[in-house]
Amino acid sequence: MIPVLLALGCSESVGHTGTDTAPAPDTAPEFDTTYDVVVVGSGPAGSAAVLAAAEAGASVVLFERETTLGEGVRMASQAYGILTPWQEDAGIVDSLALAQAEWTTLTGADGTAASVTAYLSGTSEVLVWLSDHGVDIRGPNNAAGEGSVARIHEFRWPGEGTSFEQLMGDTAYTARTGVEVTGPVIVDGAVVGVEWRDVATGETGATGARGGVVVATGGFLRNREAVAEVRPDLAELDPIFETLKSSTGGGLPFFEAIGAGREEPANIGTYVHSVPDPRDPDTEAMILMTTPAYLLVGSDGQRFTAGGSFGSFDVVDLLPAGGAWLVAGVDDAESMVFSPPAYNWANQDAGPELYSLPALQALGSEDLVVDADLATAAVVAGVDPAVADVIDAYNDLAATSQTDEFGTSLDPTDQLRGTSWAFVHFRPALAKNFGGVLTDLSSRVLTPDGTPIPGVWAAGECVGMVPGGGSGRGFSGSASALYYGGRLAGAGAAERSLSAP
Ligand SMILES: Cc1cc2nc3c(=O)[nH]c(=O)nc-3n(C[C@H](O)[C@H](O)[C@H](O)COP(=O)(O)OP(=O)(O)OC[C@H]3O[C@@H](n4cnc5c(N)ncnc54)[C@H](O)[C@@H]3O)c2cc1C
Repeated sequence: MIPVLLALGCSESVGHTGTDTAPAPDTAPEFDTTYDVVVVGSGPAGSAAVLAAAEAGASVVLFERETTLGEGVRMASQAYGILTPWQEDAGIVDSLALAQAEWTTLTGADGTAASVTAYLSGTSEVLVWLSDHGVDIRGPNNAAGEGSVARIHEFRWPGEGTSFEQLMGDTAYTARTGVEVTGPVIVDGAVVGVEWRDVATGETGATGARGGVVVATGGFLRNREAVAEVRPDLAELDPIFETLKSSTGGGLPFFEAIGAGREEPANIGTYVHSVPDPRDPDTEAMILMTTPAYLLVGSDGQRFTAGGSFGSFDVVDLLPAGGAWLVAGVDDAESMVFSPPAYNWANQDAGPELYSLPALQALGSEDLVVDADLATAAVVAGVDPAVADVIDAYNDLAATSQTDEFGTSLDPTDQLRGTSWAFVHFRPALAKNFGGVLTDLSSRVLTPDGTPIPGVWAAGECVGMVPGGGSGRGFSGSASALYYGGRLAGAGAAERSLSAP
């Protein structure tokens, strides 16, 4: 019953750091502290929620079960955006209608859906807002398959401190690191707070939320049980991960306890453009950064997809049973550069350590083969030497600017050449959730029949990126959706508290 919550509302001053001890409702456990807004998770979505709530004048507490804040802020560094000042500066002509039409092709979801329309229309504002919060936005670029115009904006963090610290600036909020939220506190069907547990000490407690709780706990792809439940086909894989270690579905018990609905949880983005870190195969996958012309082949040496599919999210469906290899000609193996797992674009200016092919081989990677002789390299990699004929046929098409069997228009620069041949063994990588808990356009969490659950919002990967659904089988640049949803959620929870009588 909402009135219980409304009776708790109070107007705190801007920048309140959370020492308020307003009485809890009779039926709730005794709260250690009560804030206007409780945010769970310090990734992009949670950070945006904290900022939006604090900037609205709410008192905010942020729970993060890791001991450091904002690992996801550092990683999520590519943002899809239309009609942005950066597009305008680059002379790029774009429109909502064009982006909607291309969204359908890009993600398989309806580009004219209200959720997608709202998100697309809001991308420019959220990028300007991020720029105002210290993010140096570069681009836009046109990543593979993102449509006919450049829409991928990249982040840099030029200031002092971590990207999370730079984003938060001097915003006043309370951080509870190393503290996991274990479930909601519900009174008369409304979420009025959270139960928590200190990960190190095991101490437990409950914290009140006058306006609401924003759940921004990220994806669940490191939780094999949760993946198997929605995608039994992926449970059969021996995947590598291109998702944060914390992507274990930390919000799932919370959502279950409040009876939240789910929307397209089977929409899981899978990449095949990575190899495991030879130093620690269980860490995040490595990303192939720069590649000369290449082909993707199976163990039979035949192509199974066009090169352009390499960066898309559902290539795993195309993988041949015997495995997949990227084959490329390299003049200089040093020029074939891979990123280490902790790398991301945002830190590029700080001079990240990159790995060349020989450096990776020296580390003992079994996924990389390079040899001056193509047949030798193929045999060592476990690929049928018939791949030589496939390369010859492809090079002939490229030399004469023809179209290949996948409909890709080639030109002479696409030819595979080199003094050596590299084979990179690709394993499927679980990358991102593009479906999750059911939310509306304001990021409010809904029951399966679409009824808002009072006092709870969700944003980020745990909702599948776009509030209200519509991410389909996935898109690059989802950082804008994380921040977009987080802002809505934080503002909504703050408004509910601050507007209460
Ligand atoms: C190597 C790598 C490169 C990437 N590159 C990009 C990129 O270029 N562009 C892009 O858009 N994305 C990229 N991503 C993905 C991106 O990092 C995620 O999509 C993003 O971080 C998700 O944001 P989020 O706010 O939803 O959740 P997260 O960033 O996952 O944050 C959720 C937080 O909630 C915490 N948490 C979970 N459960 C609880 C609980 N019960 N109590 C308290 N805290 C909890 C977690 O510890 C975590 O810190 C990359 C990821 C990796 C690993």
